[in-house]
Amino acid sequence: MSRQFENLRASSLYCRRCGKAMPVRERLLLILPDKEIYDYRCTVCADSLGQREVGAGELARHRLVSGLTGKPLR
Ligand SMILES: [Zn+2]
Repeated sequence: MSRQFENLRASSLYCRRCGKAMPVRERLLLILPDKEIYDYRCTVCADSLGQREVGAGELARHRLVSGLTGKPLR
């Protein structure tokens, strides 16, 4: 089980219902003060194939990349 989670960022995951690696759709499931949770679903059968938590540190890095360089967030 844990082996496939190394590739959670990949655009395809193994789907048990389809019996092979399928392209997945990333959906924002939940926004928390310190993290966001994404849900990955098979684009064919819509089965949930995994979830990914993005912590505050990684979110901050995304914000930096998108242009708020150097400015502290309130
Ligand atoms: Zn599927």
